[in-house]
Amino acid sequence: MKRIAVFPGSFDPITKGHESIILRGIPLFDEIIVAVGLNVDKSPYFPIEKRLQWIREVFKDIPKVTVKGYSGLTVDFCRKSNALYILRGLRTSADFEFERSVGQVNKKLYPAIESVFLLTLPEYVSITSSIVRQVHSYGGDVSQFIPDGIRL
Ligand code: ADP
Repeated sequence: MKRIAVFPGSFDPITKGHESIILRGIPLFDEIIVAVGLNVDKSPYFPIEKRLQWIREVFKDIPKVTVKGYSGLTVDFCRKSNALYILRGLRTSADFEFERSVGQVNKKLYPAIESVFLLTLPEYVSITSSIVRQVHSYGGDVSQFIPDGIRL
C-alpha cells in the first residue's frame, strides 16, 4: 500500500522551514499532500489561491509532492485522500504541547492515523509565517525566509 502523508497547515505563506520539512519527508513517504487549510477561525493574510500557487511552484519538479486546499477536519481530509500519516514540524516546546493535544485528538477521531513529527533544523526554528507576514506588511524584504524561486 502506498504510504501517503498529509502535511497540513496554513502556509500563510510557505517558508523555508515548511519547505525543509517537506523535503525531509520525501524519503519517508511515497506521496506527500501539502494540505492548505481554509481555517474558519483564522482570516488569512494571503489569499488561498496565492498560497497554493507558491507551494506548487516550489515543488513543481517533485511529482511525489502534491498540493491541495481543504476545509473541515484534517482527519476527514486524510480519510478521503487514503493518507495514514500526518506530517508536522516541531520547533519549540510550545509546538510540542500543542501538537500533542492535536495529535491525540486526531488519533481518537481516526485510530488508523499516525502523526509523524520532524524536529526543525536549528537554522529554521525562528522562521515563522507570522514573522514573514509582519516584515512583508511593513514593506521589508522577506526573500531569505521563503523558498527560492517564489516572490510574494
Ligand atoms: P498551522 O496554522 O497549522 O500552525 P503552519 O503553516 O504555521 O500551520 O505550520 C504547518 C506545519 O509546519 C506545522 O507542523 C509547523 O510546526 C511546521 N512549521 C512551521 N514553521 C516551521 C519552521 N520554521 N520549520 C519547520 N517546521 C515549521
